[in-house]
Amino acid sequence: MSGETAAGRPAWTVSVLTIFPEMFPGPLGASIAGRALEEGVWGLETVDIRAFARDKHRSVDDAPFGGGPGMVMRPDVLADAIDAARSGAEGERLVYLTPRGRRLDQALVRSLATAPRVVVLCGRFEGIDERVIEVCGLEEISIGDFVLSGGEPAAIALIDACVRLLPGVVGDEQGLVEESFEGDLLEYPHYTRPREWRGLAVPEVLLSGNHELIRAWRRAEAERITKARRADLWSRYVTAWTSGGKREVED
Ligand code: SAH
Repeated sequence: MSGETAAGRPAWTVSVLTIFPEMFPGPLGASIAGRALEEGVWGLETVDIRAFARDKHRSVDDAPFGGGPGMVMRPDVLADAIDAARSGAEGERLVYLTPRGRRLDQALVRSLATAPRVVVLCGRFEGIDERVIEVCGLEEISIGDFVLSGGEPAAIALIDACVRLLPGVVGDEQGLVEESFEGDLLEYPHYTRPREWRGLAVPEVLLSGNHELIRAWRRAEAERITKARRADLWSRYVTAWTSGGKREVED
């Protein structure tokens, strides 16, 4: 299986707007994502925001109106960079990474991975001029409640999460179905050889060869861990379970 379209173009393309294009592909050039990139399953473009600067110093930022610390990325420069990056294709997503955005989760990753093309704007300094968000219709996304020094590490995390969902990228696709957050459960614990290690044995049931029992044990462990750690997921899971349907679909 490959992600290529009939025309031979990757089925999923991401265009990253950054003042540090040398940060890409970076970690995305290695391992699973790197192999898929080489095979043309997905495509990566980088747009150097500085190329759209208007002065001889190639400046992309300026002091904030109203005063205060730091610098703000200019709307005119950013809009030109965004216009160069966007294809106008139907379903294209224009993303600005910011701590203020909608929190990235597996459902949002899934929806981004099914878009044909995603443009990702990486902020720097204090962030970007508010008007660009409105004028360009940017979707604000955060990777968590913490502050990075720039959007590039966030872009790498977002892209990695999308790429592994593309058809053919992860060898065993059953693995994707059983992962954390599928069906609102965190994952059950894993064990491998040696059977006994530092006085700790592998749970007996996993050696039983009884797949029904193993499945039930894993489900119970996933439930125990989710309930203990994530009240938010647990209440969604319980609601889905008590209103029927969902649990049957997964079993
Ligand atoms: N002044 C901003 C933080 C700026 S950090 C604030 O208080 O919200 C500089 C850039 O890093 C941001 O423009 C954004 O693109 C990126 N960034 C920082 N933290 C991020 C996060 N949690 N998720 C996504 N992008 C983030």
